[in-house]
Amino acid sequence: MKEWIEKITNANSLEELESLRVEILGKKGVLTAEFAKLKTIPNEEKKAFAQNLNEQKIAITEAIDNKKVVLEEDALNKKLEAEKIDVTRFNNEVSSAAVHPVIDTMDRIITYFQNLNFAVEEGPLVEDDFHNFEALNLPKYHPARDMQDTFYNKDFTVLRTHTSPVQIRTMLNQKPPIRMIAPGTVFRRDFDLTHTPMFHQVEGLVVDSEDKVSFANLKHVLVEFLQHMFGDVEVRFRPSFFPFTEPSAEVDISCVFCKGEGCRVCSHTGWLEVLGCGVVDPNVFKAVGYENVSGYAFGLGVERFAMLIHNIGDLRSLFESDLKLLGQFK
Ligand SMILES: [Zn+2]
Repeated sequence: MKEWIEKITNANSLEELESLRVEILGKKGVLTAEFAKLKTIPNEEKKAFAQNLNEQKIAITEAIDNKKVVLEEDALNKKLEAEKIDVTRFNNEVSSAAVHPVIDTMDRIITYFQNLNFAVEEGPLVEDDFHNFEALNLPKYHPARDMQDTFYNKDFTVLRTHTSPVQIRTMLNQKPPIRMIAPGTVFRRDFDLTHTPMFHQVEGLVVDSEDKVSFANLKHVLVEFLQHMFGDVEVRFRPSFFPFTEPSAEVDISCVFCKGEGCRVCSHTGWLEVLGCGVVDPNVFKAVGYENVSGYAFGLGVERFAMLIHNIGDLRSLFESDLKLLGQFK
């Protein structure tokens, strides 16, 4: 019996303890076998034999129970140790926050123009027909309205398709001279590699007396701005059409990826279109009641700038909140 007690005391695990219990007290256990002998033992010896067996059984059961408590406690401690969480531990792997590339690009653009004394103006996202179209020389049923895939609301208001209505609102509220930019969110029904239904624009407007504003001023401002944003690039102006400016131009920079040699991004032309601009159409000034002034305006897509600055191929990836992608722009 001493031997058994010793084995029980030295058991290393609950499994080992259980197999010892089966070995000793189980149906085919050694002690159970001893009890079976009672049948064959002479009556006068039975009492002493049974008493002895019972004492052994009690001692062994007690030893097993005690050992079980110890082993269970050990197992629990091991589990607690393994699952321990140190809430005070500093985790170096936690990544720090970064500004989203679109917002970062927008901030850079805004700061640049603020330094040139442009005021930052804002307006509502839901616009009426007058501010979003009509005042911008886009009368109802004008074919140029098709250039902008508009979201219409039931009450014939629209989600603004550009930030130009902010220019109208500013001119209606202020007297010239005006020197402003309108950064903000705009909406169009469009979704592919280079278009998302929501995107960001920055538009600029300068209005002053006729002798103070010219296309040459506009050209100078934009060339300096684009070289600030994209580095040492060539800038070219191409005649184009916008309803609210006349003359109008689209502005290209020499491809930032191939330096003008021709690559996939620039469709092998060596040039990337980055913004639109022009001299404000007299009809726009008529709509806001301005007289004897001249002005120029420009507009750009912030996502387009961010994609070119950070070499992002798919515009949609900017809106997927993918930390693997966004983490690269710290
Ligand atoms: Zn290229």
